[in-house]
Amino acid sequence: MRKILFVFSVFLVIFVLAAGCTNKNKEAAERIDTIQDKVDDLYDEDAADITDFSDEDTEEIESLIDQEDEEKKDLNESNTDNLESVQDEFSQAKDLHTLENQIDDVFDEDTVTEEYTKDDITALKSHLKKYKKSQTVFYEEQKNELKDAEEQVKERDEASAAVDDLFTDHEVKEDVSREDEDKADELADKVKNKEIKDSLEDSLAEVDNYLTAKEEEEQEEKRKESEQKQQEAKDKKYIALTFDDGPEEGSTEQILDTLQQYDADATFFMLGEKAQENPGLAKRVADEGHEVANHSITHPDLANLDQNQVRNEMLDSQSQIEKATGTKPNLFRPPYGSRSDSVDTVANETDQQLVFWDIDTMDWKNQDPQEMGEIIEEQVHPGSVILMHDIHQTSADAVPEILATLKSQGYEFVKVSDVI
Ligand code: ZN
Repeated sequence: MRKILFVFSVFLVIFVLAAGCTNKNKEAAERIDTIQDKVDDLYDEDAADITDFSDEDTEEIESLIDQEDEEKKDLNESNTDNLESVQDEFSQAKDLHTLENQIDDVFDEDTVTEEYTKDDITALKSHLKKYKKSQTVFYEEQKNELKDAEEQVKERDEASAAVDDLFTDHEVKEDVSREDEDKADELADKVKNKEIKDSLEDSLAEVDNYLTAKEEEEQEEKRKESEQKQQEAKDKKYIALTFDDGPEEGSTEQILDTLQQYDADATFFMLGEKAQENPGLAKRVADEGHEVANHSITHPDLANLDQNQVRNEMLDSQSQIEKATGTKPNLFRPPYGSRSDSVDTVANETDQQLVFWDIDTMDWKNQDPQEMGEIIEEQVHPGSVILMHDIHQTSADAVPEILATLKSQGYEFVKVSDVI
């Protein structure tokens, strides 16, 4: 009986111990489930959800895990595995949360803050790559954020470099051009960060002031030069004969012969298309020492064209005439004398001086050498710029008489650039 009682007691002890053990395991499993639930709560689908992820949550989960870790020796193997997998999940969620915060920190609202550089963004991008497969939603969202940041930093760096390039030792570079300034200005316009943009714009304003002062100085110099020239033209009784719309076979040739005979210089405002049609004759004008000038390609009224069309007319004709004559014209007379803001802008851009006239012989209308002569006789004065057209036979016929008369009055025939 004693023996039986002893065996029974042993079984009882084992049973109680086993039951206690089972209860303990059950409690541990429940606690791990609780931790798992809390970790799950930190996710929105498969990504750590920043809106729900608070520091208190983190602390609470961490303390729960710590407790379990301490009691690990009492847990059975399967509960230990469960705890470890929950721990892994939690640490990944924490990593994501940290990365998300770091990426968020790059921006102030939707603008990259000043301190973040290209290298910082590259580092974050490479960190993010770790999550490419496991956290698709998170990855795509953060990738787009970083792409935006990268673009902003690139624009910022490009603009800063372009503006820096306009300076040497905090001084505006001497040879800086309007084009350089416009280019940097365009880049600075794209910069989103307000402080950087403001500072770039301050620097650009400095460049603008420098250029404006330089341009004003140059204009003043040109004005003085031109005044001197005009004075000299008056003193020396200079006259500029100008011929538009050619070169034309026959009439232009005849005019060139007459000019040669009188040893007179003149200026020919050529059409690009005519210079292309008669390159030999265009070249003869240049070779005989006359001034080659530009009068557009097709003779449109430039005031009716937009700026690109004006640029085309003024710039392509310049190269067509250069191709035919070997001389790049830097004087431009707008057809019909029709001027506009676009004409002024393109003339400035392409370094072509606008030239008009002060005596119009109306040769295209009167087609009458005698009437042309009378008009000149009435209006002529030292420094005159006389307008004729070398495409009319009647104009070619009028030139000998005009030259003879003016020469007898003591006039000298020069290029238009000598009187303007
Ligand atoms: Zn014309």
